[in-house]
Amino acid sequence: MKKRQKLLSMLSLGLLGVSVLFTSCEKDNNFELSESTELTEGFSIDADIPDVSIGYPDIPYEEVEINGKKIVVQRLSGRGFIINRDQFVTKEGLERMVANEKANVGENGMPRIWTNGVVYYQYDNLYGPPSQTVKDKVASAMRYIESVTSLRFVFGKGNGFYISIEQGGNAAEVGMRGAGQFFSISSSASFATTVHELGHTIGLAHEHQRADRDNYIAVNPNVLRGKLRDQYKKEGVTFGSFDWDSIMLYPSRRQSNGEWDVIRASDRKPFRSRLSNSNSGFSQGDLAVIRALYNR
Ligand SMILES: [Zn+2]
Repeated sequence: MKKRQKLLSMLSLGLLGVSVLFTSCEKDNNFELSESTELTEGFSIDADIPDVSIGYPDIPYEEVEINGKKIVVQRLSGRGFIINRDQFVTKEGLERMVANEKANVGENGMPRIWTNGVVYYQYDNLYGPPSQTVKDKVASAMRYIESVTSLRFVFGKGNGFYISIEQGGNAAEVGMRGAGQFFSISSSASFATTVHELGHTIGLAHEHQRADRDNYIAVNPNVLRGKLRDQYKKEGVTFGSFDWDSIMLYPSRRQSNGEWDVIRASDRKPFRSRLSNSNSGFSQGDLAVIRALYNR
């Protein structure tokens, strides 16, 4: 009978590991894999899984060195960096992350939640206001989130912490960060993608980066040696059990060499996720995490 009880889905937050897997320091975005008999066989499995519109696919990856540690990022010139495919951090944030692995969470190691559950927002003026199409997409996702949670989105600058909505790639900062913090949506973003990015804004991290993810998904060792390696770091805080239905879980992604980035550990096959369905919102597990985070 009945619906099986959903545990708190997870949420691993913001720690960006600093382990350095590469020693090469190429300056030309060349992350060709070196031949090695130690490489585990890559995940080449026939499947038809659409990619999702996330992040900034047109911005090249580059390896930067922060305090002697190397990390692969995408650079938004003069502004900051994209990590984990769709999470923005400032230069200072990246330095804190490399130094103490706490850039995406607060001092207590927990997500930085919005005061009283109110997220303030403005439209970006510095880099040009978003189109009405983008405004409508974001408004639709905000109204949805208000309908299924106790959170509220209010136009204005509130207590000085607010997101600044711009049109660009699909990316956001994780949790409440500061005045005019980063939030970008593309004109082609799906509803599901927009909810995912607002999920980051309210403090959610990636399901596929949680600390215990190896019990559920396997990450292609070839990918972990390539330019995307830092997108699969395990992060620190984990809530509840792994939620296969989470909007914060990316579907398996086909790489340029035909291999998949991740596969399901149980059957060794690529998988779709909630994000694969463009009209999806939060899972029941996502909602449980949000209720727990905001205690309301
Ligand atoms: Zn994301």
